[in-house]
Amino acid sequence: MLRLAVATNGINFVRILVGEARTSPAVLSGGQMEVCYHCKVPKDLSEFGTRIGVKSGHQSWCKVCSKECAREHYRKLKIECFEHYGGVICVCCKETEICFLSLDHENNDGSERRRLDSGRQKGKGGNFFYRWLKKNGYPDMGLRVLCHNCNHGRFINGGICPHQDLSRKG
Ligand SMILES: [Zn+2]
Ligand SMILES: [Zn+2]
Ligand SMILES: [Zn+2]
Repeated sequence: MLRLAVATNGINFVRILVGEARTSPAVLSGGQMEVCYHCKVPKDLSEFGTRIGVKSGHQSWCKVCSKECAREHYRKLKIECFEHYGGVICVCCKETEICFLSLDHENNDGSERRRLDSGRQKGKGGNFFYRWLKKNGYPDMGLRVLCHNCNHGRFINGGICPHQDLSRKG
């Protein structure tokens, strides 16, 4: 039966069977299935986010697809912000992979970082800071683009990235 599911519905369906069977008895007892509008995979209703104001009561995209979309949106927002603060490149090591990049304070005061962290704690998500910047017209507050590597390197090296601290070399 499982092999048949593999052949007809692919990996996603198997993951539901294997992963959800333990947690959701609704699947085993023939729980309601819905085809995701985006990936076209039939999934249990628990795989869809709820949506108030529509007849079905849930979203037409499954949670996985919605997340993917949000990530793409987040990426665009990040690129937009970075372009206002020097471009999509680490000012220190010239890393250009956006996944590794984030905005950093030149003056190291960290107050905006704390604001970002508190936003995250309130469940506003990682893009809270980027959204805030956009909303405020990208204010000049000593921000620059730095990769996580250099950010961390600077943190453990007393404010100077080991890349820049040439005196430590040799
Ligand atoms: Zn989907
Ligand atoms: Zn770097
Ligand atoms: Zn560096």
